[in-house]
Amino acid sequence: MVTLFVSCKEEVNQMPYDLVIENGNVIDIVTGKVEMKTIYINNGRIAKISNTESDKVFKATKTIDGSGKYILPGFWDNHVHFRGGDSLINANKDFLKLFIMNGITTVRDAGGDLTSSVMTWKAEIEQGTLVGPTIFSAGPKIDGNNATWAGSLVVENEKDIDVALDSLQALNVDFVKLYDSKISGDLYLKTIKESTKRGMITSGHMPFTVELDETLDAGMGAIEHLYYILKGCSSEESEITELIRKGDYGFWTSMEKLVATYEDSTAKKKFDALKNHNTYVVPTLNIGDILSYLDVVNHEKDTYLKLMHPRLIDTYEGRIKRSLNASEEARQNRKKLNTFFKTLAKSLSDAGVDLLAGSDSGAYNSYTYPGISLHQELEAMSKTGISNIKALQNSAYNGAHFLKKEADYGTIEAGKVSDLVILNSNPLENIKSTRDIDLVIKGNVVINPEKIAKELDCMDCVGMD
Ligand SMILES: [Zn+2]
Repeated sequence: MVTLFVSCKEEVNQMPYDLVIENGNVIDIVTGKVEMKTIYINNGRIAKISNTESDKVFKATKTIDGSGKYILPGFWDNHVHFRGGDSLINANKDFLKLFIMNGITTVRDAGGDLTSSVMTWKAEIEQGTLVGPTIFSAGPKIDGNNATWAGSLVVENEKDIDVALDSLQALNVDFVKLYDSKISGDLYLKTIKESTKRGMITSGHMPFTVELDETLDAGMGAIEHLYYILKGCSSEESEITELIRKGDYGFWTSMEKLVATYEDSTAKKKFDALKNHNTYVVPTLNIGDILSYLDVVNHEKDTYLKLMHPRLIDTYEGRIKRSLNASEEARQNRKKLNTFFKTLAKSLSDAGVDLLAGSDSGAYNSYTYPGISLHQELEAMSKTGISNIKALQNSAYNGAHFLKKEADYGTIEAGKVSDLVILNSNPLENIKSTRDIDLVIKGNVVINPEKIAKELDCMDCVGMD
């Protein structure tokens, strides 16, 4: 039902706004300043923001009382996956409402094998015929022959680079995702350079046969996960890289050595290089916690587990088995490395390197559930000592800048897309308040997370605890 609401004493002649959120505590995502404001929305964009005292006369099709609430740009999960083959298409589609229920109005899909479905959902969400977050997608990943991930585009020679990038451009992807399971270091660097030449944004892992500086110099836009940053911060990166090239060291066997040779002065140089190249870092701390403790934490009672399709839960087995089969020493090393990464994330943030909050949720990534895992990532960032406002910036604000979408997203400003979250409590005081969602605004649409939770028969899936 549409109700016409007139809040003034006299008749107003102008057309009504589609939606007005009155008297909310609007959090300035850049400064952290909180100010009571009224947000006027038309056609899915913010038409005007004003201080309530100066502007009390308006007409609106729908009005929301924002008093006592805290308003932020809708969250961005900057690292998710839609994948797992055709039998999991519907299981992946079910993720969309979990993102929205958790206030996530945009996701960055870091590559998978369901590109045609993802592109269909993306279009339907844009048209308003499907409820879900705005999707920015890498399409299929780029890797070498016999790559780890199904559906990857194969780059085995220089000609393959053009073929792969042509096909990604034909798919109209939003960025290029590079993976490191089989691609050669040389072709990896050439792919980044060619993507950059074509004006395509890049993100990815890094083959350990390559040095961090080479990757940054090639133009890499974002480094996913902290292994590659750690490698660059070792005083012996070149020597270790040489041992890896010769096959004396592997990815995991080099970790202990890398941690032992971490050097502050080298790290500082690499942090400066990351800043100078405007390269983002995606720490994925929460999935690090989950995967490092698979051998000791029982997830059977996880609230979100019952929302996952049984076939999707089957994909969790691989990582669980690898963890349980690892030696006691390997398991302890993984935990130590995970703890080390917390410090590294804080150091990066303190040095002024731009981070992206991304969960890595999706099939195969055991117990890292779509939606809630972004809140867990923000909490993990906050726990390292990163301030709450910085953690929050790592979601929508940095996400929008990384994908060069800041004209439309990332801040609450007139002219931008009205993707917002209205929280019941202040996330600057307690980061867990990002889960304390009253309403989600996606353009002109107002979504009540409790209603979705009720439909899913999972009232525990929303709220702070
Ligand atoms: Zn990933």
